[in-house]
Amino acid sequence: MNLLTDIAVKPNNTDDSDIMNDRIESLKEKTPDLKELHTDGGYGSEDNDKKFEELGITHIQTAVRGRKSKVEMKIEETEGEYEVSCPLQKVKSEKTRSRYKVCFDKKICEGCSLAGDCPTLIQKRVYYFTREQYLSNKRKRNINTLPLERRKLRPNVEATIKEFVKPLNHKGKLRVRGQFKTVIYACSMGISINFGRIHRYLTVNPDLCGLSGLMKAGNRLFFKNLFQVGQKLRNIFYFIFFMVKFHQLPNFEIKCCQVA
Ligand code: SF4
Repeated sequence: MNLLTDIAVKPNNTDDSDIMNDRIESLKEKTPDLKELHTDGGYGSEDNDKKFEELGITHIQTAVRGRKSKVEMKIEETEGEYEVSCPLQKVKSEKTRSRYKVCFDKKICEGCSLAGDCPTLIQKRVYYFTREQYLSNKRKRNINTLPLERRKLRPNVEATIKEFVKPLNHKGKLRVRGQFKTVIYACSMGISINFGRIHRYLTVNPDLCGLSGLMKAGNRLFFKNLFQVGQKLRNIFYFIFFMVKFHQLPNFEIKCCQVA
């Protein structure tokens, strides 16, 4: 059904990986079955890798940020031990004080056509890495572990973006300004996109019409509750409206009294 389950609004100079870092726990809380998360290349970071590992989520990245290394090192973990493979060799790592090291066979390296571009060149055919580098290396290869038909799930996001930007003005900008109004816009769009998707799903699956009745009842309950909440929050909305409109805070007075 491709439902939107999380919406975050941040200034457009915020790094994608920081936004993801903020949302990982909340995503897992809302969708405890989440085992696999597909993103483009901008959402990976060492911090995120650690969080994903703790929460048992596999991060599938469809592209890699930065320049691609000419010689790819593959770091694998088996029962707490690491093995590093280059195009010609596979070697077990040794633990050093703060990281891991792999000593490649210099005789094989001498005859290697990639020797000049290899990351082991400076360290005399020794390769150092940390646990964080292992996680990052694994993240970049995660997509290769999927069957071909599951490697192209992320481009569906473009359809969502298209729906989101439909009401923007002719310059492709929002018709509202400020974070508060943008959050309201994004959440309302998210709700309407989800309703549209559920409706289309039920239309092509008429055998689920019992569910449709359930949904209608759910909608009625949702809007009834929304109306009640809205009534209770009316004064707060008036207050925010005046603040935004006149750009000034009303004066408050704090009084203190003593009870005998
Ligand atoms: S130079 Fe050595 S370590 Fe580097 S790719 Fe060639 S064989 Fe592997």
